[in-house]
Amino acid sequence: MSTISEVQAREVLDSRGNPTVEVDVVLSNGARGRASVPSGASTGANEAVELRDGEATRFRGLGVGKAVANVRRLIAPKVIGHSALKQADVDRLLIETDGTTNKSRLGANAMLGVSLALSRAVAQSEGKPLYKWLARERPVTLPVPMINIINGGRHAEDSTDIQEFMVVPVGFDTFKRALQAGVEIYFSLRDILRGRRLGSTVGDEGGFAPLLPSNHDALELVLAAIEAAGYTPGSECFIALDSAASEFMTDSGDYTLKRDNVTMSPSQMVDVYEGWIDQYPIISIEDGMGEEEWESWRMMTERLRSRVQIVGDDLFTTNTGRIKRGIDLDVSNAVLVKPNQVGTLTETIEAVDMATAVGWGTVISHRSGETEDSIIADLAVGMAAGQIKAGAPARGERTAKYNQLLRIEEMLGDEADFVGRRVYEGFLNHR
Ligand code: PGA
Ligand code: ZN
Repeated sequence: MSTISEVQAREVLDSRGNPTVEVDVVLSNGARGRASVPSGASTGANEAVELRDGEATRFRGLGVGKAVANVRRLIAPKVIGHSALKQADVDRLLIETDGTTNKSRLGANAMLGVSLALSRAVAQSEGKPLYKWLARERPVTLPVPMINIINGGRHAEDSTDIQEFMVVPVGFDTFKRALQAGVEIYFSLRDILRGRRLGSTVGDEGGFAPLLPSNHDALELVLAAIEAAGYTPGSECFIALDSAASEFMTDSGDYTLKRDNVTMSPSQMVDVYEGWIDQYPIISIEDGMGEEEWESWRMMTERLRSRVQIVGDDLFTTNTGRIKRGIDLDVSNAVLVKPNQVGTLTETIEAVDMATAVGWGTVISHRSGETEDSIIADLAVGMAAGQIKAGAPARGERTAKYNQLLRIEEMLGDEADFVGRRVYEGFLNHR
């Protein structure tokens, strides 16, 4: 039985040029796994702690030297010699060694690096592709990609208030064909933006960051891009939003859309969403309300749940305690899943399982600061999550995920099962 024989860590750079943690795990039989950890910008207040050095003279305070040292000095001695096969046991050991509720001692970035690198090493040792190792005996599916084509909010300061406008290609038989549609729509949008001199520079997730007079204009542009690329909105392709509403919520609990020059109560904000759903083929809205506004979330869910998927990201932070609260309060109907919000692979899988058990949707997600690590692609397939959010079909750290999905679909051959429209079936009947 293979054991963990070596754990190495180093400081590397993420897609924004900020330091992040990369870990190598080596097993006694020579199998190796490497993983690197992404980093958010519109981070939820309840996320596990991303340990940063805070030394102003080094990387503007953003170094991860302490997290790297924690892997070497505190984690490695604990896990070396441990059986490699039991991911859950190793993750539990990491959680115990940390000893805090928010992973502030070791750092969720240090812990996740080890946790993910171990899963890769073990998959290699077992002679299985990672998605298959993660799936164990479960059936796997290829997820619908939510492809970000307009960036705003914290990811592109001069663009829209709404953080992300995504195109969701569902009416296709394969992931490969769906991705092609997303790519063609991305370039149609670029042509339109250039034609109207709106600017075609991109934001942190590779989507365009045009200077637009209103949020509504972004929806018009996405719709126009779908049509210009020759696809049918509302059957082949839908639109998804990530409002990241905590970023534009005021201290008094209202929502300010600067681009539209309005401040609204939570119910007026839902009126806006409702108007957009009436007018555009929107199938999913993420973080439509602030991250602690459970009552507003409930109201939004009550009003919109039959028509769109309502996804909690900052609300749940991939934390089963918060997801359980959401289920009990009947808030939202889907969870965004980001491994680094919680800090271990086992807890990430538990979050997916909890949401799936009650029939909620799950979206495996990247962060705005990414690395070339494509593990979320394997996770989305292995967990049969149904949906993945990996940014624009441009910029290497984003395409790494899409390319890995292409490889997996090819590996699966005739067994490949692209989820397509099935994932939104419940909503499509009400539209
Ligand atoms: P973040 O944004 O990675 O900057 O948190 C992604 C998201 O909100 O989904
Ligand atoms: Zn989000």
